[in-house]
Amino acid sequence: GGVPGGGEDSEALATLHRVFGYEAFRGQQEEIIEHVVAGGDAVVLMPTGGGKSLCYQIPALVRAGTGIVVSPLIALMQDQVDALRALGVQAGFINSTQDFDERRVVEAQFLAGELDLLYLAPERLRLEGTLDLLSRGKISVFAIDEAHCVSQWGHDFRPDYLALSMLGERWPDVPRIALTATATRATHREITERLGMPEARHFEASFDRPNIQYRIVPKADPKKQLLSFLREEHAGDAGIVYCLSRNSVEKTAEFLVRNGVEAVPYHAGLDAAVRAGNQARFLREDGLVVVATIAFGMGIDKPDVRFVAHLDLPKSVEGYYQETGRAGRDGLPSTAWMAYGLQDVVQQRKMIQSGEGDEAFRRRAAAHLDSMLALCETAQCRRTQLLAYFGQEAETPACGNCDTCLAPPETWDGTVAAQKLLSTVWRLHHERRQKFGVVQAVDILLGKRTAKVIQFDHDQLSVFGIGQELTEAEWRGVARQLLAQRLLAVEGEYGALVLTEASGEVLGRKREVPLRKEPKRPAAARSGSGS
Ligand code: ADP
Ligand code: ZN
Repeated sequence: GGVPGGGEDSEALATLHRVFGYEAFRGQQEEIIEHVVAGGDAVVLMPTGGGKSLCYQIPALVRAGTGIVVSPLIALMQDQVDALRALGVQAGFINSTQDFDERRVVEAQFLAGELDLLYLAPERLRLEGTLDLLSRGKISVFAIDEAHCVSQWGHDFRPDYLALSMLGERWPDVPRIALTATATRATHREITERLGMPEARHFEASFDRPNIQYRIVPKADPKKQLLSFLREEHAGDAGIVYCLSRNSVEKTAEFLVRNGVEAVPYHAGLDAAVRAGNQARFLREDGLVVVATIAFGMGIDKPDVRFVAHLDLPKSVEGYYQETGRAGRDGLPSTAWMAYGLQDVVQQRKMIQSGEGDEAFRRRAAAHLDSMLALCETAQCRRTQLLAYFGQEAETPACGNCDTCLAPPETWDGTVAAQKLLSTVWRLHHERRQKFGVVQAVDILLGKRTAKVIQFDHDQLSVFGIGQELTEAEWRGVARQLLAQRLLAVEGEYGALVLTEASGEVLGRKREVPLRKEPKRPAAARSGSGS
């Protein structure tokens, strides 16, 4: 803490120069900081990399007392504290990774008024012992980081956050600032209500990242497609490749290394030392590629990440935005590239169905997936759709820097094709009381006498061979889009196709089905089995 500045610079600006060594505030930082320094509550919606940390760090330094930072990211606390100490800021943390003695030292520092900032996990803050400790010291500000964790609709819901509403009751004179990078309008309202901050001023930064080019390509042979993408556009660049499973992380990293790309794996199954080493290399070296599960990246602050590639579909638009947002923090042109195919839809729908959680949880997960699929299947500008998801309007209806703007996809009337595929599923299901996946349905439509078609007499079905006007790839595209639009569903372990209520509207000719034309892709990529 200190005294208000009497010079030309505010004390906040002086602190920015002196402690952090930065020239000027960015975006709304100054307004937010002045508001909190003056004792006001704030809810801050700012995308990842926007500079949220300073919004509470500077008030904590300027106001008298210790700033308490509530963060669920225990794994990052040590790094955050080390970084602050390197700048000469007195920072500490209390979490479950410490032993009793380490904790005692930090507690003593806090009580002696020696700490500018103290990081706490929400589950620790709930404890009466912690609250008692806090009430014996002086607090300058409460910062609630990752505030969207309070929302049951978000994918990061943490019950411990619900208890944070007591902060305002116990410390009515201490300003609170809640920060998040992932919030729809509804989540924003929830944060205000559940944290008990009705008087808070709201600050909302634009989510647009104009230097990131968004592209979603049809998945055929994802590893090879990734390699061409890297060779053609990002040779020697630093980047992150996200995969769903640890196994595919390992395989993809090996594949890249074998093909001359400097790449390392990162996932929770790796030895902690290996993981930390790979992360450190990524931050330090130029042009290293990290192949990772989503465990990687929380709090990673590397300005020159030139691309983020997804080989598997993220579970939500929020996840996608957060992950792609790690690219191009320095403002230079960067690419968010994703390979997406039929198997992604089938796999994620199956995972939701067979996953844990009650019915409400499943419905939410399905709604998140639906929004993500809509982004993948849109024929409109991706950026516009992305911003709309966060309740924001794009500056122009077409950004000119995403794949759909650069090469607008053609659409076609897929009503008849949809009817053919849906009647095939109906025949199998209702005539034969059998359930099959996409492969069999497409083989039937194409009139292929495969061993499995013969074995089940499927060449006797009236729909056998009625779909020869489309290629196999095109049929898979039809299936994918019908699944994405919930005009078709999957069931069970093997992803058997089943009809939905909406399928009836298509079969009953009550509904047209406009579809996106599958983009042409290189012949080499066609033979893959990945889509
Ligand atoms: P967020 O928490 O919103 O993801 P951070 O607070 O980690 O973002 O900030 C992202 C990066 O931008 C950090 O490297 C930070 O030091 C830098 N930064 C933040 N504010 C400024 C500023 N006013 N001037 C220069 N760099 C800044
Ligand atoms: Zn666009």
